[in-house]
Amino acid sequence: RELPGDPETGPRVRQVAGAVWSRVMPTPVQAPTLLAHSREVAEELGFTPGQLASPAFAEVFGGNTLLPGMDPVASNYGGHQFGHWAGQLGDGRAISLGECITAAGGRRELQLKGAGMTPYSRSADGRAVLRSSIREFLCSEAMHHLGVPTTRALSLVSTGEAVVRDMFYDGHPAPEPGAIVCRVAPSFLRFGHFELPYAAGDLELLRRLADFCIWRDFPHLLGARAAEPLDALRRAGAFDETRYGDWFEEVCVRTARTVAHWMRVGFVHGVLNTDNMSILGLTIDYGPYGWIDDFDPDWTPNTTDAQGRRYRFGWQPRVAHWNLSRLAQALSPLFGDVAPLQAGLDRYVEAWQAAEREVVAGKLGLARCRDGDLALMERLQALMQSAQVDMAIWFRALAELDPAQPSLTPMADGFYDASLREAHAADLEQWLRDYALRLRDDPLDAAARRARMRASNPKYVLRNYLAQQAIDQAAAGDPSGIADLLEVMRRPYDEQPGREAHAAKRPDWARSRAGCSML
Ligand code: AMP
Ligand code: MG
Ligand code: MG
Repeated sequence: RELPGDPETGPRVRQVAGAVWSRVMPTPVQAPTLLAHSREVAEELGFTPGQLASPAFAEVFGGNTLLPGMDPVASNYGGHQFGHWAGQLGDGRAISLGECITAAGGRRELQLKGAGMTPYSRSADGRAVLRSSIREFLCSEAMHHLGVPTTRALSLVSTGEAVVRDMFYDGHPAPEPGAIVCRVAPSFLRFGHFELPYAAGDLELLRRLADFCIWRDFPHLLGARAAEPLDALRRAGAFDETRYGDWFEEVCVRTARTVAHWMRVGFVHGVLNTDNMSILGLTIDYGPYGWIDDFDPDWTPNTTDAQGRRYRFGWQPRVAHWNLSRLAQALSPLFGDVAPLQAGLDRYVEAWQAAEREVVAGKLGLARCRDGDLALMERLQALMQSAQVDMAIWFRALAELDPAQPSLTPMADGFYDASLREAHAADLEQWLRDYALRLRDDPLDAAARRARMRASNPKYVLRNYLAQQAIDQAAAGDPSGIADLLEVMRRPYDEQPGREAHAAKRPDWARSRAGCSML
């Protein structure tokens, strides 16, 4: 509440000037039922098993009642979508219930996604369908367990109401079950929150928002003064260009590291618009995201991006840089000249290159990445793309390679097409021999190398078809597949005897569905 709010309350769709948030209540739903929850997030927030099991929990996290102290708001932001300024967007279907402080002292904002109309709903209904909610719930938790910075998910509640979306049956929009995810993060501020006041020329609001963000989300940048009230700090001139510069640089570095994780695990965000870029560098907004099966840097899961493929896997590092440039532009009025912003963007490139080397070293099991190893990895990736090799299976199995007798045998399960395998086997084997030669020149012993590779190359990722199976099962009335899948995804780097089916390559039936629209 340190920032200006909209004087009008309620969900009337409107343009909101001069305010970062609008008070709005979730719209009640008919029959809220808890389908799944994250035990770690529930524990962190202090919910007991008894509370989780009680109908009151589903009432709160389905948007029908509030707990004491909750004061729901939707926030106001803009953004560049597909490279173009889109004006005011805002939380069109997300409503924050409030913040809480965990037992460990961390601040967490609780936000319902799909809780009904807000002033920012534009022409849409403020609701979310079950399939996309299952996808968000599972993927944000899976990403956390993979070690990727991300928003979390506390709960998945079905609403008992139908929502009409873009799934067509016989040419007609078909009603689908609705659901609400409660997502959790220290902050849901996005690049677009800063772009909107910049675009409106509201420099006072821009400055207040930047100061607030540093004070609340980057307190370490204020040192011992972080405990002082925001207003006092502002009056004392604590927010100067040096502070803003340090802040922007940290946003750049965090973003670079998160993108490097995506490239490591094979995650494709799919809608890297600036309104979907977290100021904390968290992965946020699980919409049409997808996972790489056969390695293909040109693949995007977003069917609306089929033409330009702006949001393809291999472009994520450069798209994040472009998005940071938009943020730099929005923050430019805070600076006398652009040098600190340029320095931040340069830091992005440096941090990305350092993180990329870390990823290459981890995936190949090297003590450290030398220049030649980048080329070695590039050569491998080109071959994997041509030969259509499964990314997760290949790298996981590579740890089993015997450098004394390099062969494709450990990776045999990773090929999608026998004739492509045949066509590229000689080149892949040559690559393996070169790799084995490189290993001879590395200080890690076999056990250490394998441990490093297993910690970098997940065995279990949330392949699109796995989520789809849980969705189909839930749509048929049995939500247990969601918890089962989450259980596997909680330990993605462990061998899980009996669970190998969840590490299998994409089955043929799933191929055409891998890129379906999941908005
Ligand atoms: P996204 O493409 O998911 O980043 O969404 C872009 C914008 O559309 C954001 O402002 C969302 O809040 C809004 N939006 C998406 N779906 C809905 C919906 N069903 N109802 C209202 N607003 C929505
Ligand atoms: Mg979004
Ligand atoms: Mg979305």
